Amino acid sequence: MTNAPDSRPSEVESPLGFAREVEQLMKMPQHLCKQRGICCRVATFKGSLSYAQILALAANPEADGHESARDFASVFLPYDSQAQVRTLASEFVDRVRDFAQSKGQDPDQVSFFKCKYVLEDGRCGVHEDRPVGCRVYPFPHKSTIYHPGCGFEQQGAQNWARIEEILAVLGISGDL
Ligand code: SF4
Repeated sequence: MTNAPDSRPSEVESPLGFAREVEQLMKMPQHLCKQRGICCRVATFKGSLSYAQILALAANPEADGHESARDFASVFLPYDSQAQVRTLASEFVDRVRDFAQSKGQDPDQVSFFKCKYVLEDGRCGVHEDRPVGCRVYPFPHKSTIYHPGCGFEQQGAQNWARIEEILAVLGISGDL
């Protein structure tokens, strides 16, 4: 008797295998961080949302991204103007504005934020108790905008490219 070829997908190509791979890809190696603290001093939410949009998400428990918006708004304070942010991270402002424009948003409406716990030297003032979002930051996604020179940028782009391939195979949208 001969055995028929096994037509079941291997675990690697099965939905479970893909889920495990995505889980690994979402965990960026923390040694890539250059510990400059700039991402705590100048941040945006979901790439290019305005403060009003973030507060609306945070206030609506039914909205996608409600919890992350609530956590973000509890830690980050908005800058008064983009001109103020330009003195700290001009190239990052340009990246964010370009991203907003590519999504059909008004770049002038994008809000930038500073964490209320970041210390003058860039270290985290609540490191042991920092929020979950900080522990997993940055996660690879098309809306993640890296500061120029960020050690995570190249790896994040590679991981997101692979995640997008997997999502396409599974027919899942990569939107947040
Ligand atoms: S809580 Fe700490 S790690 Fe999180 S953004 Fe603030 S300073 Fe950075």
